[in-house]
Amino acid sequence: MRRLLAGTGWKMNNTVAETRRYGEWFAEWTAGRALSAVDIFVLPPFTSLHAAATAFAGTPIATGGQNMHWLESGGWTGEISAPMLLEAGCRYVELAHSERLQHFGETYDCVRLKVDAAMKVGLTPIICLGESASEKESGRADAVLADQVLTSLAGQPDVATADVVLAYEPRWAIGGAEAATPEYIAARHAALRQVLRQHRGARAAEDTRIIYGGSVTPENGKEILAIEDVDGLFVGRAAWKPEGFAKIIELV
Ligand code: PEP
Repeated sequence: MRRLLAGTGWKMNNTVAETRRYGEWFAEWTAGRALSAVDIFVLPPFTSLHAAATAFAGTPIATGGQNMHWLESGGWTGEISAPMLLEAGCRYVELAHSERLQHFGETYDCVRLKVDAAMKVGLTPIICLGESASEKESGRADAVLADQVLTSLAGQPDVATADVVLAYEPRWAIGGAEAATPEYIAARHAALRQVLRQHRGARAAEDTRIIYGGSVTPENGKEILAIEDVDGLFVGRAAWKPEGFAKIIELV
């Protein structure tokens, strides 16, 4: 039985002071609420990670990084490693967000190294997968997604894929006006699960959580969550303020 997930990536938003306020708001909101059936994560910018781990302590909210390097230390100016994230209180790390691919030239070969490094120290990678608008138009979405997931997991032949989270985020739906349609999401999630079944076996296909992200809102989230192979919601803009994230968690 897969546990549901609700998460938000803050991107380059929320200072330390804002993070503390977000945490205070949530400490009050979560008190006395039954949230044991859902896993919740927040991915702040690096500078706010420590403040977030402190602010969310005692709540069911776990924190994670938005990226990391695949090496533990060394001459990599501006980078941060898996052990550093762990020390900052992280449980998760997001990898392969489309903005990393688009603006910073990341590739899935590099994501594979990061998945290996994260899993080595016990961080759960949230691996983003998604086709571009032109890949969608040319009917190549499922082939692109299969390649992305298999490349990302290539260094982990034995590990149960329950130890990773897959985030299906169509690149054309991120930061846009509308999410993908429920029919479209259902087809992509089912295809991804079939890739896992074919290459990793029935158990991995059953256990791996595949969450959806891309213009999710409190208004459309319920319908997306009702899709059979959707195991949770991954939210950007709609959850940068605590009130918005609370509305998303309430759906899950
Ligand atoms: C994202 O950037 O991962 C995302 C899902 O953003 P938004 O919800 O704002 O589309």
